[in-house]
Amino acid sequence: MPRSLTAKLKWQLILALARRLPDCKTITPKLGESVDRRLSYRDRVINRLHLFTCEACRRYLSQIKFLHTALAVAANDPETFPTAELSSDAKERIKKVISSSIGNVF
Ligand SMILES: [Zn+2]
Repeated sequence: MPRSLTAKLKWQLILALARRLPDCKTITPKLGESVDRRLSYRDRVINRLHLFTCEACRRYLSQIKFLHTALAVAANDPETFPTAELSSDAKERIKKVISSSIGNVF
C-alpha cells in the first residue's frame, strides 16, 4: 500500500530530527524533571522535538505524569496514607531486628 507524500515527508523529518537529537537515555531524566518543574526553553524545545520522533518516550512521559498525579491525589487522601505512627515499642523491636541482622548502627 503506497503511503501518501505527506506521510513520507513526515517520516523523513522524523528521521532527520532523530539523528540530530539526544537519545532516549539522555532525554528521559529531562522528561522526569519536566513533570516536577519548568525546564529551560532549550530543554523544552529539545524534549518536544524528541517526543515528536519517539513513541516510547511519549508513553514514558504519559506514565510518569499519571504516577505524579496519582501520588498527588493519594497524598491528600488520609485513607490511602494514614498518619498513624508506630509505637515506641514497635520502633525498638524494629531497631533490634535490624541491628541483629546488619550490626549495631544505632
Ligand atoms: Zn525516546
